[in-house]
Amino acid sequence: MSDPLRRLALVPDPYPGESLLSWADALARLNQVPRTAALRMTGMAASTSVSDVFGYHVSSAVVRAIQHTTGVTEEQVRAMTLAHYAGRALDPLPEHDPEGHGALAKWRYRQRMVLRQRSNACPACLRENGGRWRLKWRLAWSFACVAHERYLISACQGCGAVLHPQRPGTARSWICPGPAPGPGLYKPKKPCGHDIRRLRANPVRDLRLLDCQRRIDRLLEGTDDLPQTQAHDIFAALYRSMQHAWAAVRPLRLPRTDKAVRQAWDRYLAAGGFHDQHRPLIVAATVKIATEAGLDASGAGPAVTTERGTAWPNWGAPLRRRATAYGELQLPANRFGEHCSRSSCSVWVPAGRGAVLSDTAGWAAYCPQHADEFTVRARSRERSGPSTCADPLIRFLEDRLRDDEQLAGKEGDELSRQRIEAQRLILDAYAALDSRSAAAKSLLYAVRCLLLPYATHPEFHTRWLPRLGEDPARPVVGGSRDVERNTVGHV
Ligand SMILES: [Zn+2]
Ligand SMILES: [Zn+2]
Ligand SMILES: [Zn+2]
Repeated sequence: MSDPLRRLALVPDPYPGESLLSWADALARLNQVPRTAALRMTGMAASTSVSDVFGYHVSSAVVRAIQHTTGVTEEQVRAMTLAHYAGRALDPLPEHDPEGHGALAKWRYRQRMVLRQRSNACPACLRENGGRWRLKWRLAWSFACVAHERYLISACQGCGAVLHPQRPGTARSWICPGPAPGPGLYKPKKPCGHDIRRLRANPVRDLRLLDCQRRIDRLLEGTDDLPQTQAHDIFAALYRSMQHAWAAVRPLRLPRTDKAVRQAWDRYLAAGGFHDQHRPLIVAATVKIATEAGLDASGAGPAVTTERGTAWPNWGAPLRRRATAYGELQLPANRFGEHCSRSSCSVWVPAGRGAVLSDTAGWAAYCPQHADEFTVRARSRERSGPSTCADPLIRFLEDRLRDDEQLAGKEGDELSRQRIEAQRLILDAYAALDSRSAAAKSLLYAVRCLLLPYATHPEFHTRWLPRLGEDPARPVVGGSRDVERNTVGHV
């Protein structure tokens, strides 16, 4: 930047929702200079190239330069960068050292739904707005234009090149410049020259998909009345669901939708998947699966009725986990469909038809059957009459619990009943273990703690007391066999 930056006389107003590169192109056209000259004149770039990471985020220094040369406010500048979506569709910007290269590079790398150095487009929008490229078209989340009810396009139909590429070139950004010149050898003979405003885009007739795009747009712009973190959670959940659809081991059956989407999805599956998954028609297909695919969508496993397979996506606030009667839990339903996380299962769980739970590995969805494993509490085994257990310690506790139960009476308070049940669960768990195992030894300590309220009972043995400094895994009292041997004759 050798020339001092001067205030420019001709500055176009940023178009609502426009990307920074598009606005720079508009400024270049107005000033009749090439794109890179406009970037230099405004202080957006110092070199004759366009940075690979242009448009993600602008530093305070660049913001000041743009303000100085164009009079556009900081808010307007930042709203034209992808950082505008940070905290909602994209991860929040790094908190520490937000302008540090390392932290920002990491942040950029993690944003998998950003189209790198290119854009999707709605030709009709470009026709109507004077060739202004929308910022949201740089996100794979934008697969359709709600205003024109068309699927977005992602490539030139003349040469197959990506759209609005980030490289030096003409500021007439609606003219396809052709594929990028390869490193060295390959040079296209002449620019492609197709007018992107005239390209054909498939109509959206699937109103449910259009509704999905409308919801995504609202989440992107924060006009959905949801707190930012909840919007971010929805994007995360939908992305996870789409990943399951993209990478399905067993290809998922696409619910009925537009022909163009179905054909693109069939080609995608035929080619083995994993490529071009950010193309608007493929994103549309995976959004369709995430929000609507039923239980039979995997094309395998037992057939189920349509009713049971109906998906209920949740685009709103999450339903909280809540406790139902006596220790059972109602888990929040999965917002979008995905495979059951239980390793041997992997059935497709339609949106709203399973449960999600968070554990150390993050969020995971489970089919109703396997969700029960986490939510339906254990019950102690049936007991009738005095204990016949060979282990005197266990027998002693079981008898005391039976006495307590009778004392509490049939209409006894619920809390006492639950306490008795809790103690019996521990006893059952202990009884199921090999008494010589380390787990049994640790659990025996817990069982002995349960005996404390009965320490004054004539049949209580002082050996059973938990002791000061005792290691629960190496009890002073041995396994049940030792206890039995040592207490014969005392009881
Ligand atoms: Zn449009
Ligand atoms: Zn082209
Ligand atoms: Zn399952």
